[in-house]
Amino acid sequence: MGAGGAVSDGEALMAKFQKLKTDEPGVTEYAFTCPGCGGLHMIRTEGERPRWEWNGDVDRPTCSPSLLVGPGTSYQCHSFIRDGQIQFLGDCGHELRGQTVDIPEWA
Ligand SMILES: [Zn+2]
Repeated sequence: MGAGGAVSDGEALMAKFQKLKTDEPGVTEYAFTCPGCGGLHMIRTEGERPRWEWNGDVDRPTCSPSLLVGPGTSYQCHSFIRDGQIQFLGDCGHELRGQTVDIPEWA
């Protein structure tokens, strides 16, 4: 590991949330890869509802309220995002229901 005093900004730190490009003015959205259902989930932080409160940290995100994807389906994914981890609730359709795991770094 480098021990130099200069901080390089040439290499971006890994992040869990990836900012999405959008054509809509006043809209900010982030995406992350869900380790539970394997899908991509979108979090809108600015714009019209649905919209989430977010702590502004792409590496250790915390969002509220909970995220519910595919309600009523067999692949329902219901979670809380806290401090870079995703807490899957018991009503998820996938195997990580009831577990809390790290959100993977955006590849
Ligand atoms: Zn999911």
